[in-house]
Amino acid sequence: MNDKYNPKDFEEKLYDHWEKEGYFKPDMDKAKETYCIMMPPPNVTGKLHMGHALDDTIQDILIRYKRMKGYNTLWLPGTDHASISTEMKVVQKLKSEGKTKQDLGREGFLKEAWDWTHLYGDTIQKQQKMLGCSCDWDRKRFTLDEGMSEAVLEQFVKLYNDGLIYKGERMINWCPSCHTAISDAEVEYKEESSHLWHLRYQIKGEDRFVEVATTRPETMLGDTAVAVHPDDKRYTDIIGKTCIVPIVNREIPIIADKFVEKEFGTGCVKITPAHDPNDYQAGLDHNLKIIEVFDDNTIMLDLMPEVKEMKAIDARPVIVEKLKALGALVNTEDYIHNVAKCERCKTTIEPKISEQWFVKMKEITKPAIEAVKTGKIKFVPQKYEKTYFNWVENIRDWCISRQLWWGHRIPAYYCNECDHITVAKQNPGECEKCGSTNIYQDEDTLDTWFSSALWPFSTLGWPHDTEDLKIYYPTNTLVTGYDIITFWVSRMITCGWYQMNEIPFKDVVIHGLVRDSQGRKMSKTLGNGVDPIEIIERYGADAFRFSVISGTTMGNDIKYMPEKLDQASNFANKIWNAAKFIIANLVNEEDIKNYCGRVYNSDTEEYNSNLLKIEDKWILNKLDKLVKDVTYNIENYELGIALDNIYSFVWNEFCDWYIEIVKPRLYSENYEDKVGVCDILNHVFGSALKLLHPFMPFVTAEIFKELVEYTNKEIIINKWPHIRKEDFAFNKEEQIVENLKEIIVGIRNVRANMNIHPSKKSELIFVTKEFKKEIEESKNFILKLGFGKEIKLQKTKEGIPTNAISIMGKGIELYIPFEDLVNVEEEIQRLNKEKQRLQSEVARGEKMLSNPGFINKAPESKINEEKEKLVNYTKMLKVVEERINNMK
Ligand SMILES: [Zn+2]
Ligand SMILES: [Zn+2]
Repeated sequence: MNDKYNPKDFEEKLYDHWEKEGYFKPDMDKAKETYCIMMPPPNVTGKLHMGHALDDTIQDILIRYKRMKGYNTLWLPGTDHASISTEMKVVQKLKSEGKTKQDLGREGFLKEAWDWTHLYGDTIQKQQKMLGCSCDWDRKRFTLDEGMSEAVLEQFVKLYNDGLIYKGERMINWCPSCHTAISDAEVEYKEESSHLWHLRYQIKGEDRFVEVATTRPETMLGDTAVAVHPDDKRYTDIIGKTCIVPIVNREIPIIADKFVEKEFGTGCVKITPAHDPNDYQAGLDHNLKIIEVFDDNTIMLDLMPEVKEMKAIDARPVIVEKLKALGALVNTEDYIHNVAKCERCKTTIEPKISEQWFVKMKEITKPAIEAVKTGKIKFVPQKYEKTYFNWVENIRDWCISRQLWWGHRIPAYYCNECDHITVAKQNPGECEKCGSTNIYQDEDTLDTWFSSALWPFSTLGWPHDTEDLKIYYPTNTLVTGYDIITFWVSRMITCGWYQMNEIPFKDVVIHGLVRDSQGRKMSKTLGNGVDPIEIIERYGADAFRFSVISGTTMGNDIKYMPEKLDQASNFANKIWNAAKFIIANLVNEEDIKNYCGRVYNSDTEEYNSNLLKIEDKWILNKLDKLVKDVTYNIENYELGIALDNIYSFVWNEFCDWYIEIVKPRLYSENYEDKVGVCDILNHVFGSALKLLHPFMPFVTAEIFKELVEYTNKEIIINKWPHIRKEDFAFNKEEQIVENLKEIIVGIRNVRANMNIHPSKKSELIFVTKEFKKEIEESKNFILKLGFGKEIKLQKTKEGIPTNAISIMGKGIELYIPFEDLVNVEEEIQRLNKEKQRLQSEVARGEKMLSNPGFINKAPESKINEEKEKLVNYTKMLKVVEERINNMK
């Protein structure tokens, strides 16, 4: 072992070694229980950010734990083609070269996109390796690879044949910047301050008006009705009449519809079916005309000559002026409202009527609702079921077509002769209806989530009936952030059930977002982002993993505390130094293995009772508790607590107590005893390293190599420590040592309070009826850790001087003769000097504070400071006087 802990010395080497040995691969043993995680595929051209790093660390912990638990484990990695985001990046790159995607044409553009993918495609994979991810890289998938593309076609064709995919005109969310339709899940809402324009339309043939309000006055050019609530008494008499839209002078009906909120504004609303989803529905219900005001690029159409071909936003003031001039503008007020934005580029969404492909979700989502309701699928923490149900219970048809090129092209072929649409996995060559070969394929591609919705089974080779699919589907745990419960989790459950008739995973583990130490979102603009790779390069992967897991709870956002990295490094150093000490003191390995058939054999649970001392029994019991706690906490996804359990065991119980307690035995002449200690040190430390391995895989593996290992297996494929049978528990011994520890802490506190030098040893008088034997057995370490020169044991307090200092334990009392700690004469002298000093300080303060010159002139802060000093000196003086009295 190197003298100093330096992760650079071994992390990369170990990873390469593990990969070469094939330790990340499942063993395909059908007799074993399986445990499978599908890695949520990051964007293929992305870089590892804190979110991924946390996500991957959690998954790696679970996989390493289950692997050691003896499961047939598979963690399958992969990447997503991320249609919009990748296409945007390539378009930007072309733009910088003065080209557009249209210049290149579809094929040329796709070639560019593939080049881009190949160039950046394995960056994130390399970074995941640095993090220590133990996934089976040979099984890695890409959502645009051949197999996944086949899966997408299979899914599309089945949905189509089942009547669940249709092409239709619907109001969709249009992003004018990305130039594509996007799904509801990709829309986010942002509060914006704006205005509310109140307009009035004259009722035809009357001198009356209806007043409506809008945040987008330019859309009034496309109004085709005004609506009121049928129960609104104010308007009963005008329902069925018509009014005139100013500027365009169009006569439109006044209709009644329950969707109108009576209390909002005047209770009258204008209906623009072409540009608002509610209005669109009202338009369908009332058979209204649809008049578009602007096009896909929000360029004004020819409804008002003055604004023709202007941007809608620029046309707005012109239209408002005109309305004012016509007396149709009542007033304008400030208004804050939620504006729909494109999740990808933050551009304001335009609701738009367009021909798109949709999946009817309602029917196929039902089993997905059931699966969570009945507990077949469990959300951890459970509170996220709410987000899920909220989405799936109000599910709308899923708009799956995108006006993009990078992605799975829609397998629909249109006939130029008869307009029939043929949907097929492969180009059919001819129209299935009329046989014409004059056909062409749909230009659009599918929503990225259409392919990732199939991820849990397409990655296993579906639609082919592969061995992997049989063994690993359904998978066990999905680990992801709460932001994609709607986008992704819900659709995987729906599609999993639809194709496989089985849930895709059992537990959905939701983690929070990683925020900065002040709780702010990490962002480029704030410059508060943390690059996990930079940290790994500086502190090592183990420290990084520790820093994101320690102290965190699933589901809650994580405040990223950089000081945790120092804590992690200190911890790794502590382990490193403990290892060096143990290894340096280990006796001949063969002796440990053979001696007395081993002092303690964890497999058979046999132990040599003569060699096992009370402290050994204590630490074995403590270890048991630790194994129990850590196992329980990992099983319940309480990884932060599990890590903290190990941390405090290793740091406190093992390093600070056990090693210190057994040091005298390690140096003893009694070889038999020395071998005994070595066996227990080796066993307990090795077990703790195993428990820590999933969290800090590198340092544990590096050290474990140096210990005596009875199975000769590397830690990564070693057995998870088991809990000993109840009958072998050493509960009594554990209690006694805990008791003695408390007393030793008591001794240390007393000595620290009295400022006693460590070289000054004292007599330790124990008064106990029940624990005489145990204290005698523990004599060596009590003397050493309790600064004792001699131990006396008695049944009563007889003969103990009254001024002896007492420390009470359970069933044990300890007395330390006062004279052993201090020389009374010297101490009284010292205290008297201290008393004089304090008396003069008190006198000085009193004099100052009674001096009117000071009180009237000095600033208040100075006066308060003096008052405080006086209080403190008076208190200290009292304590010293008391101590002098006690001495006497
Ligand atoms: Zn956009
Ligand atoms: Zn045809």
